Amino acid sequence: MIHRRKVKSMPPGIGMTSQGTRDRLVRRLRDHGIRDENVLNAIAMTPRHEFVDEALSSRAYEDTALPIGLGQTISQPWVVAKMTEAVLDCGSPQKVLEIGTGSGYQAAILALLVPSVFTVERIEELLKLARRRFHKIGLHNIYTRHADGHLGWPSQAPFDAIIITAAAIELPLGLLDQLRIGGILVAPIERGGMQRLLKIQRTEEGYEEEDLGGVIFVPMLSGLS
Ligand code: SAH
Repeated sequence: MIHRRKVKSMPPGIGMTSQGTRDRLVRRLRDHGIRDENVLNAIAMTPRHEFVDEALSSRAYEDTALPIGLGQTISQPWVVAKMTEAVLDCGSPQKVLEIGTGSGYQAAILALLVPSVFTVERIEELLKLARRRFHKIGLHNIYTRHADGHLGWPSQAPFDAIIITAAAIELPLGLLDQLRIGGILVAPIERGGMQRLLKIQRTEEGYEEEDLGGVIFVPMLSGLS
């Protein structure tokens, strides 16, 4: 293995956001059970430091959630990878709906893997920043909407997959209705005072549920801000 040494004259900060730093994150995700090479590639290609405040950019490739203002967080990369893997499990999804745009990072990862990504955020200020980031890094297949995600995006339904990146008290049945048969919903749902990441597949008869483990997300709220 070749070990590259940091060039002495490199301005501070640059090293922390370099490809080497990103590749280290990818190795960590691989070590922690993420197997889908397409997902790992998408994470390697995506500049996560563009999705956080500059003051936090040196921490952007740590496997942790980070604050993005207004009481919200950018999800931990491992969780993003796990949820993305679950979405890709429904075959070759063409249309994916995300509830909770936040920084836009999860949407950006999906946009490298799926033809069309629809994302809904209730806080307009966050949505504006996310749109700017999509534009800056040249992602043109993400469609955004300022709305309460409980409503989904009826005019674009049915979706092949829906991903909710805020924790709901109960399964949002209205969103399940916007899934095609065979489609997958991935969401953190409160169960017995804890949040469980659930993967739910819509079937001809109803729904099948799989528990992917414990997670910590900010709550899914109602109304606009
Ligand atoms: N996917 C984001 C994670 C953001 S945190 C990322 O990659 O950065 C969760 C986000 O869900 C927050 O921005 C929060 O405002 C949003 N949210 C919470 N309840 C919502 C609702 N009912 N509709 C839409 N967005 C919601």
